[in-house]
Amino acid sequence: MSTIGTAVHSLELRVRRGIRVRGTVQGVGFRPAVFRAATARDLAGFVRNDSEGVWIEIEGSAGALSRFLEELPGTAPPLARIEATEIVELRALGELEFRIAASAERPSVRAIVPPDAATCDACLRELFDPSDRRFRYPFINCTDCGPRYTIARDLPYDRARTTMAAFTLCARCRGEYEDPSSRRFHAEPNACPDCGPVLSLSGTGLRGEAALAATVAALRAGRIAAVKGLGGFHLAADARDQAAVVRLRERKQRPHKPFALMARDLGQIEAIVELEEPARRALASPVRPIVLCPRRAGATVAPAVAPGLDELGVMLPYTPLHHLMLRDGPELLVMTSGNLAEEPIAKDNAAALERLAGIADVFLLHDREIHTRADDSVARIVAGKAQPVRRSRGHVPEPIELGFSAPPVLAVGANLKNAVCMTRDGDAYLSPHVGDLDHLETFAFFREVIGKLEQLLGVHPEVVACDLHPDYVSTRWALECGLRTEPVQHHHAHLASCLAEHGRIGPSLGVVFDGTGCGPAGELWGGEFLLADLAGFQRLGHLRPLTLAGGEAAIREPWRLAAAALHDAGLTLDLLGRIDRKKREAVLRLIETGAASPKATGAGRWFDAVAALCGLRDEITYEGQAAVELEAIAAPGECCSYPFRIERSDPFIVDLRPAVRAIGAELANGAPAGEVAARFHRTLAMAIGAGCGIARERSRVETVALSGGCFQNRLLSESAKRLLEQDEFAVLVHGRVPPNDGGVALGQAAVAAWRSRQVKGGNDVPRHSR
Ligand SMILES: [Zn+2]
Ligand SMILES: [Zn+2]
Repeated sequence: MSTIGTAVHSLELRVRRGIRVRGTVQGVGFRPAVFRAATARDLAGFVRNDSEGVWIEIEGSAGALSRFLEELPGTAPPLARIEATEIVELRALGELEFRIAASAERPSVRAIVPPDAATCDACLRELFDPSDRRFRYPFINCTDCGPRYTIARDLPYDRARTTMAAFTLCARCRGEYEDPSSRRFHAEPNACPDCGPVLSLSGTGLRGEAALAATVAALRAGRIAAVKGLGGFHLAADARDQAAVVRLRERKQRPHKPFALMARDLGQIEAIVELEEPARRALASPVRPIVLCPRRAGATVAPAVAPGLDELGVMLPYTPLHHLMLRDGPELLVMTSGNLAEEPIAKDNAAALERLAGIADVFLLHDREIHTRADDSVARIVAGKAQPVRRSRGHVPEPIELGFSAPPVLAVGANLKNAVCMTRDGDAYLSPHVGDLDHLETFAFFREVIGKLEQLLGVHPEVVACDLHPDYVSTRWALECGLRTEPVQHHHAHLASCLAEHGRIGPSLGVVFDGTGCGPAGELWGGEFLLADLAGFQRLGHLRPLTLAGGEAAIREPWRLAAAALHDAGLTLDLLGRIDRKKREAVLRLIETGAASPKATGAGRWFDAVAALCGLRDEITYEGQAAVELEAIAAPGECCSYPFRIERSDPFIVDLRPAVRAIGAELANGAPAGEVAARFHRTLAMAIGAGCGIARERSRVETVALSGGCFQNRLLSESAKRLLEQDEFAVLVHGRVPPNDGGVALGQAAVAAWRSRQVKGGNDVPRHSR
């Protein structure tokens, strides 16, 4: 036999390399992809997961090996993200086969459960292939796609620790699961019609295709369906059926807040909105977020979908069930979170049947349990890039690297749009969207999500970071949890979240514009020019405050802010003649006496005031409504602005009273509201530019981070960024976490982690005032 001879012969020609691959490379089908690439080139060796990522040893002819290395980045499956590779030379061993080796003994300390991913193209082809054994099977998935985070109970991520443990793999599915050459090798949620989850229509006994057909028929007939999805229930209705959409609004007690749409394909989406390239990319990414896009003139969508707005929130199907529904049923559906008002999205069959009983006519259920709920993520294109408005399903639990190590920190976030954040080593893990903590149900989810993050990351926090606001439910929870707390001022946290997502520590200037947050002495802040690093901050300037006549009432009724702005500018309330005289006079008295009427610098309040001055809206039904509508009517291409002045005190004060006088005069002369809206946006952008100029003089810092909910406003963000860049500032905007309160927990975590690191290392980094 010549076997030995061949081996010895090949040893002389063969080379061997060790390859270290770091990044998101576990649980995403990376090893089988390497296996297929190596065997295709007749290379030998092994690939295995370990605590640092993936380790490959590969051997064969020098030519084949170098081609393998060249092609490795392209070999990586869609969900993998290679952050770094290192290659070392090894001595050839004469191995003849390539294998997937068992994971290294030591449990992976950096391993995480991957985010959920939209159905891949290969699965989609099988889904609609009549000869495939998974033809029209609503739970088809593979290593490139399917549920992950939402079904994971514990680490390490394998089937036994997911909600798929309840389903025993049939022989064929097991064969795929164990075959390294299969696309379903270690696809933990692997399933087929013989062994996997099944659809059912509640109260009817209908299952599978029959349940789906009945749901589609109901939607076509204008009824409302509750549909169990990936991270929770949706409420679905035909988006072209005005009566159905209006009924959904009434039952959901949501008069105005826009509904998201799901369309059969990109063509359908393109028929109703203008699609820019970044929007198209975001829509088709495995995250499949809702993307807010400019509505096309004449789009055939029920008016009740997004009343008063010039944008529609659209998304593509991201589960096999969605693809089937939209293929069979109406090609454009309202798909809104299955909840009442601001409660968390329903995830369990029993809870959905109870809580959505008054809303949905039919309930399409299935028997794969959702372990952790995750709402749809929402993005908007700002300055040519997708910016998260809500970061949830598809993103979670992807880490954000802080770039330094610290003891584990839990950050509990703000009160509205709450999300929490946990750090492990140098990585920060933001939770799915939790919501408005004033709701009891949401607070329960808040506690649940903290427990689940601890479980999935295998850490216990040593420090709890929280807001300074004593009335935030999250802050109260932090102060009572028994761990060391690290209070972080709200706007400092916003700025820090922007620094953290860019891997920065500071110092940086920051313009933080939002509704209202608590200053260090309990003042109401929200129009802030800060100088900060992760350790601390200094307030360099702010907007001149407005009186909130009647406190919270002023936030619900923007005309009260318009009254305060007029009064402060020395004008009468004549522009608000439409408001009942008694009410006007009562509010004027509140403004004059200051009784129960605190002053606030919040930039968001200025949008409210100007929206009311324009006669756009006197009362709101959802947070930020007046501001969103003001942006919606702003005339495109407007380049005029209003005067403002800056008082060069310390901190400096941006005084918008001259702008209010000019707006008052223009409106009195019958100027169109759209022009006033556009000019006001531009004025604010110029005020940002001027304020940053002074901040740079005083600090010598030339980087500006833009954060806070107001920077969800595309018009404001883009014009502020442009003006600052013209003035040679380096501008940081959000791209990975929302500028709104949904990103605050990341900033809190970064600040607390950095401060804890200082305590530990004893470093003496200069600190600004807190
Ligand atoms: Zn797939
Ligand atoms: Zn099966």
